[in-house]
Amino acid sequence: MGYDYSKTVDFFLDWYELNARILPWRSEPKPYYVWVSEIMLQQTRVEAVKGYFERFIETLPDVKALAEAEDDVLLKLWEGLGYYSRVRNMKKAAVRIMEEHDGKLPADYEALCALPGIGAYTAGAIASIAYGLPEPAVDGNVLRVMKRIAGSFDDISKEVVKKDLREDLRAVMPVGRCGDFTQSIMELGALVCIPNGKPLCEQCPVMHLCRAFHEDTIDKIPVKPVAKQRRIEERTVYVMECAGKFALHKRGDKGLLAGLWELPNAEGKQKPEEIAESVPVLTIEELGKAKHIFSHVEWHMTGYYLKLSELLSGYEWKSAEEISREYAIPAAFSAYTKHILSDDNNEE
Ligand code: SF4
Repeated sequence: MGYDYSKTVDFFLDWYELNARILPWRSEPKPYYVWVSEIMLQQTRVEAVKGYFERFIETLPDVKALAEAEDDVLLKLWEGLGYYSRVRNMKKAAVRIMEEHDGKLPADYEALCALPGIGAYTAGAIASIAYGLPEPAVDGNVLRVMKRIAGSFDDISKEVVKKDLREDLRAVMPVGRCGDFTQSIMELGALVCIPNGKPLCEQCPVMHLCRAFHEDTIDKIPVKPVAKQRRIEERTVYVMECAGKFALHKRGDKGLLAGLWELPNAEGKQKPEEIAESVPVLTIEELGKAKHIFSHVEWHMTGYYLKLSELLSGYEWKSAEEISREYAIPAAFSAYTKHILSDDNNEE
């Protein structure tokens, strides 16, 4: 065993009882709800997830509905959350749950981990929160809080460090309150021992036990390797309009934003004169620059609004209303899709 967290448990639980936020997936922690919310919460703030969660559950209330959902419906429900492979994996997992687990998420950590898109963290969250099993959920927030308490300089990007913390927490999971314990650490990480900026130690229920606080090493823990520099890619993005319809293009099945709808775009920085040579333009208006950051690459974009004299082949041509209702376009293009989805274009 690494670090003994047993003394912290009651302090976490008492604090959680008084400070837990009321969240839609908490009031009724059904396994399906915990699953959906935890997947959404990866890389997205709680406040932003609430609306998405409610809309998702209203449209797809259970595993069966998710397993049978059309891809475009799913992507539309996910539009703006990014990392679309997450929702695609959820559908694959739902199909497996229907086939192999009678439509119910298994109450078993290993069986959960065997489902597409469910890793150790999500499996631990579902197992402990929905089923009360003594399985910890260790993500970046939990690592930050617990490594500070332990005053540990372990590199939290290492799999073995995560695994060891899971073991340490599993050893102290309080019988009958496993879900609360899991959520109390997550909640403390979100509200007190915050990810960016100075933690609010004076409000922390485990301050007296926190080595990083006492040893003045808070700003050095958690230890993570320096992030690799992202590749910068110049792109030119086109809002192409012809007779009130706008061009959409479907990306290929592999790579970045695989299989998603996008605005037409090309590598490099094209000049208006070059564009006019290759498409039948009536007018060209520059829409300015925008940047979108993916995990390994940054797009530095320049946008143009092109009014065309004829529809080009190779694209889907849709009205603004159809796009807003049925098509999920990744947030990478939001600086330019707003020119399609403006009120003027939606008045049909
Ligand atoms: Fe985090 Fe401060 Fe609490 Fe330590 S005392 S766990 S650094 S908030």
